[in-house]
Amino acid sequence: MKAIYCRDFGRDCNAKMRGKTEDDVVNATINHGVSMHGEDSKELNAPEKRAEIALQIKEEEEA
Ligand SMILES: [Zn+2]
Repeated sequence: MKAIYCRDFGRDCNAKMRGKTEDDVVNATINHGVSMHGEDSKELNAPEKRAEIALQIKEEEEA
């Protein structure tokens, strides 16, 4: 499983997004940023921004 922690983006937020693939977890992070933090989905979906988000991916053991 891949995971991204919202706090790794400097936010005071305990959300953790998980996914099977890099795209899944990046998409989940974008959705979270838009719905919970009022971010702009078009801006977050820019290739360079997606790459920046992907840098925060952690590998996790299957639970
Ligand atoms: Zn958050």
